[in-house]
Amino acid sequence: METLVLWTPWWLALLLGLALGSFNNVLIHRVPQGLSLVRPGSSCPSCGRRIRPWENVPVLSWLGLRGRCAGCGWRIPVRYPLVELLTALTALSVAWRVPLGWSWLVWLPALALLVALAVIDLDCRRLPNPLTATLGALGGLGLILSASGLAGAESRLPALPDALLGVLAGGGLLWGFAWLGWLLFKREGMGAGDVKLMAALGLLLGWQSTLLAIFLAALGGSIGGLLLKRRGVELAFGPWLTLGSWLALLQGPEWIRAYLDWALGL
Ligand SMILES: [Zn+2]
Repeated sequence: METLVLWTPWWLALLLGLALGSFNNVLIHRVPQGLSLVRPGSSCPSCGRRIRPWENVPVLSWLGLRGRCAGCGWRIPVRYPLVELLTALTALSVAWRVPLGWSWLVWLPALALLVALAVIDLDCRRLPNPLTATLGALGGLGLILSASGLAGAESRLPALPDALLGVLAGGGLLWGFAWLGWLLFKREGMGAGDVKLMAALGLLLGWQSTLLAIFLAALGGSIGGLLLKRRGVELAFGPWLTLGSWLALLQGPEWIRAYLDWALGL
């Protein structure tokens, strides 16, 4: 019994992460098309058969149905369970770094949104406003939690000045990149969506981790981008930004401290 209690944050994160992942599949499918998130209920894109509740259990239903619609045998893309698993992984990473508490209300949905944003950007090279705005609202909730002391010292939520500087650093740098790209290459490499994404993340991460996130994204984007380009694949920048931000949330304070120790020791 005691071990069960000890494992509570992990079980909770896993279940909430899978549920958010299931919702992510709805977001990824419907938000770019401007469709309602609640109506109509989910149905098979091939035969229109309504999805029964027991066919909608994250990952397990896909396995149980062997990846096929129960009505027409349409092959359900493996991407559906993968999105659910990846979202669950982000939730577990929160459980790893942040003690169970109020700040989970911010971190779990925020990281889940990053998964949805990355997949939508890969699909249609767009970061829809409703999603980046929701991320910004979660940043606002984070500020309230940290200012009121509800969040606790280990919540990884930034203090107000760091968060506001984060908005300037995230939004400003990306805006600068976009402007520079246009100036040098006369084409839009980075869009307004990227600027809004990093402004919102700046609010969530604080300026220090935001700078780290952008650095990691630029590093991944240039190395990974070059490798992929050789194979004829050109990725949007959004997925790199979301990946960099996830790493910066998990490791930012540790890596920044290690870097400063090293730099000051020279
Ligand atoms: Zn079907």
